[in-house]
Amino acid sequence: MKNANFIREQNARQFWQPMTHPADAQAYPPKIITGASGVRIRDIDGHETIDAVGGLWNVNLGYSNDAVKQAISGQLDTLPYYSTFRGTTNDAAIELAYDLCEFFTEEGIQRVFYTSGGSDSVETALRLARQYHKLRGQPQRTKFLSLKKGYHGTHFGGASVNGNNKFRTDYEPLLPGCFHIPAPYTYRNPFNETDPARLAQLCAQALEDEIAFQGAETIAAFIMEPILGAGGVIPPHESFMPMVREICNRNGILLIADEVITAFGRTGAWSGSRLWGVQPDMMCTAKAITNGYFPFGAVLIGARMTEVFEGDASGKGAISHGYTYSGHPVGAAAAVVCLKETVKANVARNAATRGAELYSGLQTLAAKHEVIGDVRGGHGLMAAVEVVADRASKAPAGAATMNTVYETAYQAGVMLRVSGPNIILSPPLVLSDQDVADILLAMDAGFAALG
Ligand code: PLP
Repeated sequence: MKNANFIREQNARQFWQPMTHPADAQAYPPKIITGASGVRIRDIDGHETIDAVGGLWNVNLGYSNDAVKQAISGQLDTLPYYSTFRGTTNDAAIELAYDLCEFFTEEGIQRVFYTSGGSDSVETALRLARQYHKLRGQPQRTKFLSLKKGYHGTHFGGASVNGNNKFRTDYEPLLPGCFHIPAPYTYRNPFNETDPARLAQLCAQALEDEIAFQGAETIAAFIMEPILGAGGVIPPHESFMPMVREICNRNGILLIADEVITAFGRTGAWSGSRLWGVQPDMMCTAKAITNGYFPFGAVLIGARMTEVFEGDASGKGAISHGYTYSGHPVGAAAAVVCLKETVKANVARNAATRGAELYSGLQTLAAKHEVIGDVRGGHGLMAAVEVVADRASKAPAGAATMNTVYETAYQAGVMLRVSGPNIILSPPLVLSDQDVADILLAMDAGFAALG
């Protein structure tokens, strides 16, 4: 490894970072993280902070899980790679498929298709949805519906169903036949509705209207995050996803739950679908499936699709889709142990308890700091604070304001994630009550620094 001065000097020169303007990275060099333990990370200057970002919503078990690390190194010693394309497979991938189907019985999961991450999982689900309808003799069902504000990764399929133009316009034209309905976002919505239950109904009605407008017989699937994450942590009313399930059923439309963030305990339940009592036709997973220690993902498949693909006698049920790293044995071995550790530590319960403390602490901060326009959360350890220039106009706060809060909190010992006017919190699920208190203190200092 080159010395620290060399690394500092080269920062942001050769390396174009995701979601970053290369010129911005030069002007505001990124923090260079060089170490981590527990729920804390350490930068190149030795400054330590609580990681309130949890890597990127994925390091649920924290940075020091030895069992997962040993599973990875053990698998590297026995079988570092083998393909799962037709004709071969590997034992770790088989074991994991069994475990995932057992773990997600309540969600109705029966089969697993492996990917190398969240965007791959979304791409896979969209493709399988189209193939499903072709197998059933309805090849005209090709369109996809999704929520504005939704985030579904960065492949062309996922970007096409993404509901935030920031991720779309520079890459258009995207996939044709993708349409978006309003998100159940009480703070800003086209209906000016602040009551969550009534807003859920209006959004569900918008879905019905769009289906009628497009023609149900042209629509393959509706994809949604059970709680919208990257779009600013938007939990819908509990009635929303069940209503969506019913509408999809009535119209022969598949329901894809994008659970890349919400699966494995983040919401205080073992999945977002379980939180809302819904069985989707497919669940996209990634991130915490390997605790962020190895790039890996899986699409989990329910009974409706299983029957059609496995019952096909025409040969058209062959899945002509997959990744070199689908079922990577190192990722699979990591995931088997992650799941065990996740259950052993009951991270869903801790997420619910700590999440309630965090949410109530954020509301206290909102009562104190005028710049906080909205606080969202209340379901496990995913929360957002939306910062505004003033509460009356709800004009979003500018970059300078957000940067002051971020830098002050960082100096006070907490790494936050800023996304537009939102501060997004998604810490490891093994957080302690003291960690929650420290996050709130650092945020308080960040807002106080605005003067
Ligand atoms: N879907 C959702 C809901 C996500 O939050 C993300 C990433 O944050 C993705 C898909 C894409 O996952 P990845 O970045 O692993 O490709």
